Amino acid sequence: MSEAAGLAVGIDLGTTYSVLAHVDNSGRPWTVSNGEGDAITPSAVFFDRDQVIVGKPAVKAAEFEPARVAQFVKRQMGESHYGSPIGGRSFPPEVLQALVLRKLCDDARLKLGQFTKAVITVPAYFNEPRRRATQDAGRLAGLEVLDIINEPTAAAIAFGVQQGFLTRSGESPQPETLLVYDLGGGTFDVTLMEIDGPQYRTLATAGDVYLGGMDWDQRLVDRVADRFLAQFGVDPRQEEQALARLHWEVIEAKHALSARDEVTLQFAWDGHRMRSVVSREQFESLTGELLDRTLLTLRRVLKESRRSWNDVTRLLLVGGATRMAMVQQMLRAETGLEPDRSLAADEAVAHGAAIYAALQSGPDHPQYQGISVRNVNSHDLGVLAIESQTGMRRRQVLIPRNSPLPAVGVCDFVTQRDGQPNVRVSVVEGGDVTGAHATPIGKCVVAKLPRNLPARSRVRVSFDYSASGLLNVGAALPGTGRHAAITIRRTANLDEEALAAWQDTIQRGELLDEDALPEPLTDSQSLAGDGDPSEEAISPDSPPSAAEDAQLKAFFQGMGEEAQ
Ligand code: ADP
Ligand code: MG
Repeated sequence: MSEAAGLAVGIDLGTTYSVLAHVDNSGRPWTVSNGEGDAITPSAVFFDRDQVIVGKPAVKAAEFEPARVAQFVKRQMGESHYGSPIGGRSFPPEVLQALVLRKLCDDARLKLGQFTKAVITVPAYFNEPRRRATQDAGRLAGLEVLDIINEPTAAAIAFGVQQGFLTRSGESPQPETLLVYDLGGGTFDVTLMEIDGPQYRTLATAGDVYLGGMDWDQRLVDRVADRFLAQFGVDPRQEEQALARLHWEVIEAKHALSARDEVTLQFAWDGHRMRSVVSREQFESLTGELLDRTLLTLRRVLKESRRSWNDVTRLLLVGGATRMAMVQQMLRAETGLEPDRSLAADEAVAHGAAIYAALQSGPDHPQYQGISVRNVNSHDLGVLAIESQTGMRRRQVLIPRNSPLPAVGVCDFVTQRDGQPNVRVSVVEGGDVTGAHATPIGKCVVAKLPRNLPARSRVRVSFDYSASGLLNVGAALPGTGRHAAITIRRTANLDEEALAAWQDTIQRGELLDEDALPEPLTDSQSLAGDGDPSEEAISPDSPPSAAEDAQLKAFFQGMGEEAQ
């Protein structure tokens, strides 16, 4: 089939479900259903003995052979391997995600014709390695990834263009402040953004990678299993197959409760049968605490963006789990706004991505060419330094989270000792004030310092973070003439060579052939660690701020207690 002229699709590569959409000639986005006829495809990969199966059948297979199924891979994007080996083999997450993308695209090509261009969405809080891994997954699937965009931005475009609060070219005739509340299967995020004319600006974003519809499922599973155990002395959670079946029943019941006040849940196992009536009220009291967690995040985002509910003009619901009545009730009560549920909650992100893809792909869709998207960085960007007095590690933030991009930050440090031959600037993303949980994303070394350089010589570090996600890091020692600079691109888990090898393996369909698999990565290869011991750290030039000090003290106290 010939390449459909200019066709570019939008793909929501979700934690639990993925969706592909395209824009028709009139500019309207459509979901392209998969080979099974479903709009959404479970992001699950089953390694059967002689083939790789993606989607619903893979989820089914998890019931019988959980060890051969990869699920919720999105959570591990940016790491070196998917959590557990599958069928004894270890896979990088982007390879597994590529298989999901390939299934979506192969199915879509039967309807749309040949295409290779795509825009893929990522959560707003995804850090650079995760974004890069997403892009690489696209490449591994044989796609030309035009761009990756944030899911809330995509949702805003989809709602806006279809509801008419944005023009067909994606511009906002009057300033809008949107809150996007996205509760998916395994993740939750909230983003507050402004759209003014063609400008999209993210004000703040926050989320929880371990909160989603699955947690609601688990509460119901536990309730039914506890009763089953009490009644028959058998715990269905103890057996994989029983548990998988119970999950199916529970999810159906949960979905039904979004439309009805009461459902009857039936579950049979080991010769016993149980009928259990669950009311919406019971369901809501079982899971209320989960909803409260989303509320805390919601308030935090509002606070960080220094806005009040009065400033918010629209509340967009995204993610299948926002169909639960309790979510809408909570949001109404909290915000005083009526949530916009006009689009299918689980398809809106893909629709927005498709519109954005059309915008990116040029001449066929000139109407979309004006939009400019301005994001914030979703994680603190800083430097790891060593506290001179205590010898403890401290993270100094140069560009705080939720800073509008492009952003710059400058901070002074000092050398640690007399005659220090070089300084290493370890650049990290996220983490806390002690540097714990921070992701190393690169380093900049100023070498060949003058031999007699005294301790506490000034080191000026500057960050320049471009809107496209490139971080330029400079380090200079004024007066010595020595300086160094690096550009940190989104650090990749797989290098070019490994990518090419995996691409080859995927294309030849040799994923099941152990001998044909590229060498597995070691963790040291995939992490930009501190590395070379001959490079020396720098120290903060300023005492910690009061807030940092309190956090550091709490940390040290915590360490002391542990040691006792
Ligand atoms: P993700 O973005 O995490 O891949 P989705 O946005 O597709 O996922 O949301 C999937 C979640 O939405 C699942 O937990 C699913 O059970 C839930 N969901 C879908 N439809 C309904 C419904 N009618 N009522 C309640 N939950 C639903
Ligand atoms: Mg989603």
